[in-house]
Amino acid sequence: METIQEPVSNVLKILGEPKAAPDGWRWTNHLVFQEVGEGTLAFNTLTRELALLSPEEFGSPDECLELQERWFRVPASIDDKSSADLVRLVLESLHQRPEHVTTYHVFTTMDCNARCFYCYEKDRARPTMSVGTAHKTADYIVRHCGGNKVRLAWFGGEPLYNAQVIDLICNDLVERGIGYESSMISNGFLFDEKLIKRAAELWRLRQIQITLDGTEGVYNAVKRYVDAGEKSPYQVVLANIRGLLDAGVRVIVRLNVSRANAKNLLALVDDLEARFAGARLFSVYCAMTSEFDGIDIVPMREDATKELSWSIKNLDLRLERAGLLERRGIKAKIPMAQCMADSGGSLTVLPDGHLGLCEHYSEDNFVGSIDSDELDESVVQSFRERGETMPRCATCFEYPTCIRLRKCPFSAKCLPETVALAKTTLQDGMVSMY
Ligand code: SF4
Ligand code: SF4
Repeated sequence: METIQEPVSNVLKILGEPKAAPDGWRWTNHLVFQEVGEGTLAFNTLTRELALLSPEEFGSPDECLELQERWFRVPASIDDKSSADLVRLVLESLHQRPEHVTTYHVFTTMDCNARCFYCYEKDRARPTMSVGTAHKTADYIVRHCGGNKVRLAWFGGEPLYNAQVIDLICNDLVERGIGYESSMISNGFLFDEKLIKRAAELWRLRQIQITLDGTEGVYNAVKRYVDAGEKSPYQVVLANIRGLLDAGVRVIVRLNVSRANAKNLLALVDDLEARFAGARLFSVYCAMTSEFDGIDIVPMREDATKELSWSIKNLDLRLERAGLLERRGIKAKIPMAQCMADSGGSLTVLPDGHLGLCEHYSEDNFVGSIDSDELDESVVQSFRERGETMPRCATCFEYPTCIRLRKCPFSAKCLPETVALAKTTLQDGMVSMY
């Protein structure tokens, strides 16, 4: 047994010595396996240990005592869910939420120059941040970051539609001596040479996520830019990706995969490979889109989800062969929060100065405003409420790390197909670590 990622020592301490096994030993339910050329990778989602097992160890695991000592093998009668509950209880009691808010998702505007059919924001109001609100946002950040370096994420709508407020906030932070760096989710169309330079230098833009929906014809038809003029938006965006990479900005392309465009995306990958293969800062990942009905999440029919999961696996393989697949690795520790909404160190700033916790609640569920130093604790707590477990959680590999926030529009419901996809992603991360 060869350890690739060490177990978390605190977790092993909480679990203690393995008990006697009068009924024999079995693999814990918290394992994910992945065959590789030299043997089988095994990842324990509770202890976080990743190990390579030889064919002999995998075939006759009871011959390898280390597998029992490291909680890969457990007594047959043990309740895995109770072990995970105990570990989480202790870790959560030791965990301290951050004292200062150092991550800010700033919505510069809710307006956008594209008209994607799947956009969940399309029927919402489109306010834009004013100059005054931008200055007050910077002031709020200075008051609440405790002098620490802050991480800014520019969000919208299309954040570049109101780039002047990004300049103002960054300039104010520079003047006040606050360190920062930023990331952005953008369609990438409004960049030009000058703006890319400003993004790299003044905004300290380190990473940008840009969504592509297909090859030139498909992309232009889906995006339906209102300001494209004679230009082909596809060509503009791909040229801007090249410019951003040359300026040292990491570009992550998100492929929005639906049953309608899955085949076309394979052709898009051909084009991306031709243009960006070997670019160190460039990567691509796939995301499902057809679970949106344009406004909200809708349960996907089982056959549709299966077909889409298969398409994504196929695209991942193609991206992998091209050396473009975004590698996510595996987390070394059990996460104590699901995301920005329950982490305690993060806020969203809406165009009118309201403060929120989740980037998908831009019209309600606010926790405060940049004009006040108080947060509404009842709303803060409501974002930390977790969903009930289900019978199938008892044997699910994800249970030790699974946090389902009641208010999260994406993870509140658990579909077997999305769990299967999460497993594939984890296996991919295991191979990457290996
Ligand atoms: S909610 Fe779903 S993913 Fe989480 S532990 Fe239960 S079955 Fe697994
Ligand atoms: S949508 Fe869900 S995962 Fe995303 S920030 Fe909101 S609560 Fe967190």
